[in-house]
Amino acid sequence: MTDSCDVVVIGGGVMGCATLHYLAKMGITNTLLLERDTLASGSTGRSMTILRMHYSNAITTRMAKESRDVIADFEAETGHPGGFVNTGYLFLVVPGQEGALRTNAALQREHGVDSRALMPEEAAKQWPEINFEGVAAVAYEPDSGYADSSAVTNGFALSARETGARVTLGCNVTGIVKERGRAVAVETDLGRINAGAIVLTAGPWIPEFLASVGAPLPLSWVRHQVVKLHRPLNKIPTHPIIADTSNGISFRPDVDDLTLIGIREDPTDRDTYNQSVDPSCAADSLEYLVQRYPAFDEAGWDGGWSGLFTVTPDHHPVIDRVPGLENLVVGAGFSGHGFKLSPTIGRALAELAVDGRATTIDMTPLRFTRFAEDDLLGSAYGATVFA
Ligand SMILES: Cc1cc2nc3c(=O)[nH]c(=O)nc-3n(C[C@H](O)[C@H](O)[C@H](O)COP(=O)(O)OP(=O)(O)OC[C@H]3O[C@@H](n4cnc5c(N)ncnc54)[C@H](O)[C@@H]3O)c2cc1C
Repeated sequence: MTDSCDVVVIGGGVMGCATLHYLAKMGITNTLLLERDTLASGSTGRSMTILRMHYSNAITTRMAKESRDVIADFEAETGHPGGFVNTGYLFLVVPGQEGALRTNAALQREHGVDSRALMPEEAAKQWPEINFEGVAAVAYEPDSGYADSSAVTNGFALSARETGARVTLGCNVTGIVKERGRAVAVETDLGRINAGAIVLTAGPWIPEFLASVGAPLPLSWVRHQVVKLHRPLNKIPTHPIIADTSNGISFRPDVDDLTLIGIREDPTDRDTYNQSVDPSCAADSLEYLVQRYPAFDEAGWDGGWSGLFTVTPDHHPVIDRVPGLENLVVGAGFSGHGFKLSPTIGRALAELAVDGRATTIDMTPLRFTRFAEDDLLGSAYGATVFA
């Protein structure tokens, strides 16, 4: 059976579903999202879903702020809840990084983010339960928090479907068909689907698609572990999200007495990586946590999971048309910060598919060719999840 539509979206993670939603907002509803498994079954469903706004670049700061505002009031955008919880966010840096933190906090304020650069002594007065030893400076964002990856992904998809967009689950896309310099269709295990434009949001599985159309990107995968703890509610009813460059961990509260710790970025093989948590890693993360937040010494470990960051050399994504195939649009390489940026990225991908360029936020700094041009996006804290 051959089908056809204006735009085909490949992959039903948060990026594909956000794109479908923003296409619908632009009035493009003859669309079809193809997902080979279930929605949010890739990196999205394994996300820590932290929404922070501390970045080193204007473009990521702006995207983080606008996206946070959308997710915090997700019902207004989609008519569906997004599960946002406002916890506040503390970013702790080591000596040598305090100048960068202050510069970044000022950049965040220029973009409307309430970001406060604090000395550790000031922070200790506000959070006496936290040990700020070894910390040179703290950035505090009272408006940051976390959301529900499943609710946000499904909410975007539902709002698009309510306007006529289609979502097909269990459909494996096996190839992109090129004709005379255009991407004209996708081949799937359910048949060929002709498309006016194609948006590629297949997460960790993007490299094969790009290689097949002769436009590879330098993408690789790292394994990030998420350790699940039960904390003593009588001592720690809740806590802000804390990210710590001294040990590379981030931790946030979850429902009931749960706290999630994100730790490590180890290069891995996408198809064979260990999807659970290493006991040694759980022990390390608990040790770090107790040093920083002593009341966690009564917390109990309860498993966890691992997931894939798909990374570029600068740990920032590519949001662009594929060179040589102008109606093929790609959103790739979101590292550990795609979820929080998904509204503005989905909007940009929709604009690229319809208008040929991202009109609301200029995505030139995230262009496809920046690696070949050796014009990477910088970060005050190196190319890591904190980029
Ligand atoms: C452990 C972990 C913690 C994270 N923590 C945070 C965080 O705190 N904050 C934050 O902002 N971000 C975080 N991230 C990053 C964020 O989750 C990702 O950047 C984001 O979810 C990427 O979404 P995506 O839609 O691009 O990819 P994915 O969610 O991987 O979706 C891709 C989809 O494409 C489908 N697909 C692939 N191939 C095909 C095919 N051939 N045919 C049809 N469908 C196909 C897959 O099944 C999948 O559903 C974290 C990620 C991980 C793994």
